[in-house]
Amino acid sequence: MSDSTNNPNHHKVIILGSGPAGLTAAIYTARASLNPLLIHGPLAGGQLTTTTDVENFPGFPEGIMGPELMQLMEKQAVRFGTTIAVDTIVKADVTQRPIQLVGQSGTYTCDSLIISTGAAPKYIGAQNERELLGYGVSTCATCDGAFFRNKIITVVGGGDSACEEASFLTRFASKLYLIHRRDSLRASKIMQDRVLSNPKIEVLWNKGVVAVEGSKKDGVTALVLEDTKTKERSTLPADALFVAIGHTPNSHLFKGQLEMDENGYLLHKADSPETNVPGVFVSGDVQDHVFRQAITAAGSGCQAAIGAERYLESLHE
Ligand code: NAP
Repeated sequence: MSDSTNNPNHHKVIILGSGPAGLTAAIYTARASLNPLLIHGPLAGGQLTTTTDVENFPGFPEGIMGPELMQLMEKQAVRFGTTIAVDTIVKADVTQRPIQLVGQSGTYTCDSLIISTGAAPKYIGAQNERELLGYGVSTCATCDGAFFRNKIITVVGGGDSACEEASFLTRFASKLYLIHRRDSLRASKIMQDRVLSNPKIEVLWNKGVVAVEGSKKDGVTALVLEDTKTKERSTLPADALFVAIGHTPNSHLFKGQLEMDENGYLLHKADSPETNVPGVFVSGDVQDHVFRQAITAAGSGCQAAIGAERYLESLHE
């Protein structure tokens, strides 16, 4: 192990990210007496802070607001000895020991790193899209679909995510419109077939969403669409807009150092949350483009923490 014990900026474990993955990793490593430092950027709490009610996190039968759930997790992590630092890390070197992280406010070193930096959903850039996020606009069908029972639901996108979300949302929707900017879907054949054969789904081809109408009080009431060929505009009454045009994993800091797939998702060993660099672990959406749930992120945070704990123990053997 590195001899950095007198350096106040040196830690046995540093966790990057404060979503459910990072905070669960913090709870576990703190309870293992590793005194973790958790670093997050200016917005704490990850993607759950952009959602309102969370009804599928076990233990909250009445549901809980996303930001409140994250505050509770943070409180739990701090209770066991997690230190939280607000800083934006701009450079990381995981190839040297100790591992070095350079932030806008300071430099940090550690023996083991848990990366839980999440993924950012992509947005279409429609007027009012961000303002009504959590008020009828959503980027997660599994999280928010059940709020729109017997309502008119719209999904934008033409890939596997959009088709999967559209198919899933038909269990709630009275009518579902899939809005795509071209005249053919990018999704795999099986997903396309599922969408195109579903009587509840109508695909609106060659359409872009330019504005979302509604308010925080009334939610979404309509979408303003523009035909991508004729530029003609129309208004579509709707109660919800699910934006499903993909995610960007927040992994750019580790480009060239850690193995990632072609979309930038960090890779880990088949039977472990450890990356190709010993002592560097991953959890949450930065390594998961399939499930993307708070509970799966939390589970992987636990795995990363146990991985880090065992790695640190192995340094003494
Ligand atoms: P994707 O394949 O990149 O598709 C994104 C879709 O959104 C495309 O149809 C694209 O239109 C559209 N789009 C992008 N930017 C847009 C914008 N600004 N305005 C309007 N539309 C826009 O992303 P994804 O569907 O999230 O899939 C990502 C990866 O995960 C893929 O490899 C996919 O196969 C995989 N995935 C698999 C499953 C599954 O197997 N169950 C489920 C989800 C995702 P264009 O077609 O015109 O480019």
